[in-house]
Amino acid sequence: MADRTPLIAGNWKMNNDHLEAISLVQQVAYRLEPEDYERSEVAVIPPFTALRSIQTLIEADKLPMALGAQNCHWEDAGAFTGEVSVGMLSQLNVTYVVCGHSERRALFGEDDATVNRKVRAVIDAGLVPIFCVGEPLEQREAGEAESVVDRQVRAGLEGVDDPASVVIAYEPVWAIGTGRTATSEDANAMCGYVRDIIADLAGDEAAETVRIQYGGSVKAGNAAELMGQPHIDGALVGGASLKADDFAVICRHHRG
Ligand code: PEP
Repeated sequence: MADRTPLIAGNWKMNNDHLEAISLVQQVAYRLEPEDYERSEVAVIPPFTALRSIQTLIEADKLPMALGAQNCHWEDAGAFTGEVSVGMLSQLNVTYVVCGHSERRALFGEDDATVNRKVRAVIDAGLVPIFCVGEPLEQREAGEAESVVDRQVRAGLEGVDDPASVVIAYEPVWAIGTGRTATSEDANAMCGYVRDIIADLAGDEAAETVRIQYGGSVKAGNAAELMGQPHIDGALVGGASLKADDFAVICRHHRG
């Protein structure tokens, strides 16, 4: 059995200035014990403007937390007003970069090809993509959830030599920020489905190793059950990661 340490990552979206960000990370750290960090990897994903502050805090206080960014551009540098390169993120000791979040796909026009460029740029820079896939409600209701996810996974990983080096976040769009969560059985089944695609793309060992998170209204009250599912290797957490108490409970899910 491969060691798939769960990754609990808090995606703060466009919330918290750099001072609020420092306070939130301090509050989360205060609530976690060394054992919690041993059982799960904990990451915070603040807006760009807080990355430097959180990097400094993590290093100064030796917090065993990883830092993530919510987006990147795929080029190294150039005339791309408003964009941030992976190299810039790497200089801030960012480990994870979210690629293809459903809000970026739906609100900012990112398609599978764009997401694939970002995934490859992140890997090329030695960082780890948190590559998001998931079906909108209409497609789920039309029975197309699997085909949508199949397309997204294969397109997003095109040209990626080692898909197991990517963290995949299965996030059904209808469950993000809505308070609706997939049942643990459904979430596990879809994560297992993604794992089968990885087996098809890269073999059984890659499928056994790749970490597949669930995301979509993960909360203090449902984290333990979701994380207990065999195909779910952690959570990408939006709203609940903005509250230290809730996020800490999710990070401590192994305590039951
Ligand atoms: C997310 O932002 O990826 C997410 C899953 O949000 P929420 O937990 O609020 O549904």
